[in-house]
Amino acid sequence: MPETVYIRKASYDYARLEPVVFELLEDTLAGRITPGMNVILKPNLLAPVAPQTAIATHPLIVRAAAGYVLSKGGRVTISDSPAIGSFERVISATGLKEALSGLNVDFRQFSTSAEVSSDGPFKRLELAREALEAGLVINLPKLKTHTQMTLTAGVKNLFGCVVGMKKPQWHFRTGVDRQMFAMLLLEIYKAISPAATLVDGIMAMEGHGPGKSGTPRQLGVLLASKDAVRLDWAIAKMLGLDPEIVPTCKAAREAGLVPEDFIVTGDVTADTLLAADFKVPDPEGLVFGPGPMKGFLRKHLVKQPVEDPGLCKLCGECWKYCPAHALEKKGRRLSFDYDKCVRCYCCLEVCPQGAISARHTLLGRLIGKLFGK
Ligand code: SF4
Ligand code: SF4
Repeated sequence: MPETVYIRKASYDYARLEPVVFELLEDTLAGRITPGMNVILKPNLLAPVAPQTAIATHPLIVRAAAGYVLSKGGRVTISDSPAIGSFERVISATGLKEALSGLNVDFRQFSTSAEVSSDGPFKRLELAREALEAGLVINLPKLKTHTQMTLTAGVKNLFGCVVGMKKPQWHFRTGVDRQMFAMLLLEIYKAISPAATLVDGIMAMEGHGPGKSGTPRQLGVLLASKDAVRLDWAIAKMLGLDPEIVPTCKAAREAGLVPEDFIVTGDVTADTLLAADFKVPDPEGLVFGPGPMKGFLRKHLVKQPVEDPGLCKLCGECWKYCPAHALEKKGRRLSFDYDKCVRCYCCLEVCPQGAISARHTLLGRLIGKLFGK
């Protein structure tokens, strides 16, 4: 049966924002929160960054969602496992602590993993016990571009339920094949099974997201659904993209989740373009080429991470996080080992200076031209 995707125009003016968030959660959750229920809110808390960077979910959206759960008698815990910085620092810098002051909520970093079986290729996942055991999870992503995954919204946000340094380990396991990583994300989504996903698309991010290298882009919308797969598919279409270039959307269709089957309701229609010129990272260079050559092409032609020495402060976040141990400090510069690098772009994501970008190899540019990409 087609699932509904709700879309409302919105701003961060709290007096107007709160009733819209309440309505969207009422539409999607429809009486599922019972008094005393342990409800986890899972925003995007990637790093200790201010709201205007558009990297983390806006704190006022989290406040409104918490207020909704409390109004139903639920108990609220706000959780994530940030890639950079301590959880305490992240909830202060993102404005969450201040925005939620006065509300009876807990902040708790995901800290322990539990194993859960999966029917996909990965069979067993280790995910935050707190999320698996919650009465209900509400997924609160930020709508952003993502160098490896093209877009990050509903499905990708739940990668934050992988605890701490297990995240880069998964990147390493899935390697250069981003479709494999997308399948992992889909399995994580199914295991966590959030009751509702509410996407912060008011100030979204385009360009080289999801970290400091991305560019904030005003879209002025909130989107919600029980089904994050269909929600992501709808978002891609409303940004004028072929959803199949978003690996998680493609993986969902291949898994038979019929993501294209949905109804859009709210302030705009399904064929509305939220942004005619929304800039996403190039998806090319990752899968094209003759079948037997794909492994070679992936390794040698996929964009390489490069640092801008003018911006790099040699803080060490990137080389600490790199799952492949493919970069190190050499004198006053970074040195990348592209044979080891699995092109996960974690280094772009965690760099607090926006000093790393993904650049085509010369060979990649030449072959891309030959294949007309
Ligand atoms: S590239 Fe970024 S994360 Fe890496 S050392 Fe330089 S400033 Fe730090
Ligand atoms: S160098 Fe960057 S892109 Fe390459 S494996 Fe390390 S973190 Fe990933």
